[in-house]
Amino acid sequence: MSISRRQFVVGTAVGAALGRVRLAEASAPPVLSELHPSEPWLEIEGAALTQNVRAIARLTGGKPILAVAKNNAYGCGCSVVGPVLDGLPEVWGIAVVRIDEALALRSAGVKKPVLLMARVEPNELDELIAHDVRITPDEALASEVALRAARGRGVGVHVYVDAGMHRMGVPIARAPALIDALGKAPNVQIEGVFTELTEDVDFDKEMAKQLRTLADAAQLGGVKVGRLHAASSHAVWHIPETFLDAVRPGLAVYGGYVSEEARSRGELRAAYRLRAPVVRLVRLEAGEGVSYHRRWKASTPTWVATLPVGHVDGYPSGAVKGCDVLIGDRVYPVIGTVSASHTLIALGTETSVKVGDVATLVGPDHPAIHPNEVAARAGWSEYNMFMHLNPLLARHVV
Ligand SMILES: *Cc1c(COP(=O)(O)O)cnc(C)c1O
Repeated sequence: MSISRRQFVVGTAVGAALGRVRLAEASAPPVLSELHPSEPWLEIEGAALTQNVRAIARLTGGKPILAVAKNNAYGCGCSVVGPVLDGLPEVWGIAVVRIDEALALRSAGVKKPVLLMARVEPNELDELIAHDVRITPDEALASEVALRAARGRGVGVHVYVDAGMHRMGVPIARAPALIDALGKAPNVQIEGVFTELTEDVDFDKEMAKQLRTLADAAQLGGVKVGRLHAASSHAVWHIPETFLDAVRPGLAVYGGYVSEEARSRGELRAAYRLRAPVVRLVRLEAGEGVSYHRRWKASTPTWVATLPVGHVDGYPSGAVKGCDVLIGDRVYPVIGTVSASHTLIALGTETSVKVGDVATLVGPDHPAIHPNEVAARAGWSEYNMFMHLNPLLARHVV
C-alpha cells in the first residue's frame, strides 16, 4: 500500500523534524472515537484553565493576562488550549516562543493578540504579519518591520527588554533608541514593552522599576508604549511590585504551582489528565519480581497491572520512587521500572481491577497525582511535568 506524502510526514520521525506539520496535527483535538482503546491519552479540562485564569486575575487585582502557551501550551496542545483562553475576558492575549505555536493558535481560530517572544528572520516576517502575530523586533528587524508597515498594513510589536536576566531581548541601554524608532515608524504600533524576571525578588522589583522609568521617558518623548509586562507565575504569587500593566504567567494557567507556599493556598486545578487503560493483569507469588533486574519483588501474593504509558509520554522515570496511580477512587503504587512505554502498579493480594479499567497517572482528581505531587515524589521539576508530555499523545478536550 502506498502512503501519501502527508501521511508520511505526519506519521514518521521525518515528520517530527518538520515541526510545523507535526505540531498542527499533534495538537488537533481528536474525537473520542479516534482514541485507540489500548493506548494512553491526555484529557485537557477547559474548566480548569478557566478556574486558573480567574485565580490569576484575582491574585493580580484584575490585571490583563497575557497567557503563555509556549512549548505547545505547556504540553496541553496549542490548538486545544487556544480557543479556551481566547474566550476568557481576563485574557488579553497569548504568548509563545515558536512560529509553529503562533500559527497553530491562529489556525485554531484564536482572535486575540498572539505574541511571539523570539528572534525571527526577515524572510519570516510576511507570514507572521499576514497572521497578525505580534513580533519582538531588535534594531536590525525594526527597519524591516517599518518597511512592511509603510506599505499599508498595521504591524503590532512588543519591545523585549533585557533588564538583567540576560537571556533574550534588547539590552536596556539600547531600548530607548529602539522604542523611539519603532514608535515613530508609520503604521507600527507598540502594544507592549516587557522584560523577563529572574525570580530573585529584590532584583525583580528593581527591574520592574527600570521598565517603568524607561516607558515614562518614552512617553514624555511622545511615543506610546502600550502595556508594560513582566510577571511570570512566580511573581503572581510572590512579587506584586512587578504586576505593572499586565501579567504574563504560563505554568499557573495549566494548574502547576511555582512554590509550596502557592500550593498551600490551593487556588489552581491541574488542567490535564494523563490516562491509560489497564492492558494486562498478572498474579505474582511471593518472591517473584517484575521488570528489568526484577527490581521489585512481591513479599506476598500480589496482582500487578500493566499500563501502556511510560517516560516517552512524559511520565517521570522517577515515579518508582513513591508515586501512586489512581484507578476508581483508590491509588496504587508504581513498582519496578517506568520504562519508555510501560508502567507497572501493584494492586494487592485481592483486586477488583479489570483489564480495560482506566488509570490516571497525573491529574486533578486526587492529591497524590497532582503534577506538583508527582514531581516532588519523582524528584522532578514541576515544569517538566508539563513540558515533556509527548506531542503524539491524543488530546481530548473535556
Ligand atoms: C516561560 C515564560 C513565561 C512564563 O513563565 P512561567 O514560569 O511558566 O509562568 C513568561 N515569560 C517568558 C519570556 C517566558 O519564556
